[in-house]
Amino acid sequence: MQHTLRSKTTFKGVGLHSGKPVKLTVHPAPAEYGVWFKRTDVRQGDPFIPANWQYAIHTPLCTRLENEDGVAVSTVEHLMAALAGCGLTNVVVELDGPEVPILDGSSLDFVRSFLTTGVVEQNAPLRAIEVLKTVEVTAGDAWARLSPGDGLRMQFEIDFVEDAIGKQSKTLSLANGAFVHHLCDSRTFCRNADVENMRAQGLALGGTFENAIVFDGGQVLSPGGLRHQDEPVRHKMLDAMGDLALAGAPILGLYEGYKAGHTLTNRLLQAVLSDPSNYQMVECTTTQAQNLPGAGVSSSDLIEFNT
Ligand SMILES: [Zn+2]
Repeated sequence: MQHTLRSKTTFKGVGLHSGKPVKLTVHPAPAEYGVWFKRTDVRQGDPFIPANWQYAIHTPLCTRLENEDGVAVSTVEHLMAALAGCGLTNVVVELDGPEVPILDGSSLDFVRSFLTTGVVEQNAPLRAIEVLKTVEVTAGDAWARLSPGDGLRMQFEIDFVEDAIGKQSKTLSLANGAFVHHLCDSRTFCRNADVENMRAQGLALGGTFENAIVFDGGQVLSPGGLRHQDEPVRHKMLDAMGDLALAGAPILGLYEGYKAGHTLTNRLLQAVLSDPSNYQMVECTTTQAQNLPGAGVSSSDLIEFNT
């Protein structure tokens, strides 16, 4: 079945790239509504932006959605991952600025708030995208691939020259609340060497050691160190979850990524969904629905984060 929030919930923070303060409220929405953003500060043009891959703009450092009137919202991926990871199908996300707040750099605050507020079932069947054929996209030595599977599974590998990151790989079935337990608290990361470059381009203006892990050679500069020894690859999986959530329905298939980022995952979705022979929309069977990210999760799944 489809799901929404029991009541609205509000977040306040700054945009990672803009550095500007933003207030964001997630509201319940009726069955069949889907996920929509609404810019409350926009006076000209349509303030509504659909959370859909067809509106995604290719940017290397975040995922940005833009409607026909040029009204946009940036850095949607950690929020989209949290919505998918909590099984939320229908919500309106209102915000008074151009960028989703970065909070602690992960999806944890969104997930905590959604599960504490409560996820409620709606009287409408859940549809999913069943992948029928293997589709792959590449960029240099990086690649991303979707192939058939019963629930959503992910396999990801990264390879950085920084000693503190290095080669990391992880395989995970997203059933049984795995997103909440294993991915949602992993933070965004960058290399200290890249910080000056990003700032010179007007990016990462809201970045701090508190909302991103900053690596310098073999060292972690952020206070408190890592939350998981392989936090970077977990965060890349979180990002991929958020980008896959722009499909408009949960995906039944295996996602594999090698050094993949937002642009590649979005190109992959485009490649799969622009050819109807690659997939079919299915009404989820009970077993399929039980295997999806977010199925059956509740505030009791947060116990490990209540410290
Ligand atoms: Zn991210």
